[in-house]
Amino acid sequence: APEQYRLLIGALHALSKQVHPAQSISDSYVLRALALAGWTPRLQSCVVCGTRERLEHLSIPAGGVMCSADRTPEARPLADAERVQLCALLAGDWTMLGDRPPEARVTRLVGDWAEYYLERPLRSMRV
Ligand SMILES: [Zn+2]
Repeated sequence: APEQYRLLIGALHALSKQVHPAQSISDSYVLRALALAGWTPRLQSCVVCGTRERLEHLSIPAGGVMCSADRTPEARPLADAERVQLCALLAGDWTMLGDRPPEARVTRLVGDWAEYYLERPLRSMRV
């Protein structure tokens, strides 16, 4: 899996050079590795109706963001700033992410996303 390998090498290189906050590198790596494996969260439009307005919830089982009208009971509230951070982590947009690590809620969503789609707890996410 050359793309996974290049992503891993890139993440390890960025960690060793400390060019970005370690949590940002970790969260971005996890989201991008899962995306390469086929589990890309849909973050720009509602997974039900496709609207780009009022994307205020995230449903991990449904695969992405939901508008207020379509939200399901398990969907979690998602602030627009959190959605923007998830987009930046997924894209590896370091300019957008800046020098601060992601919000704790965003990191938790990334871990929950990974554990849901990998179907196992990831103890290393909590180290
Ligand atoms: Zn909708």
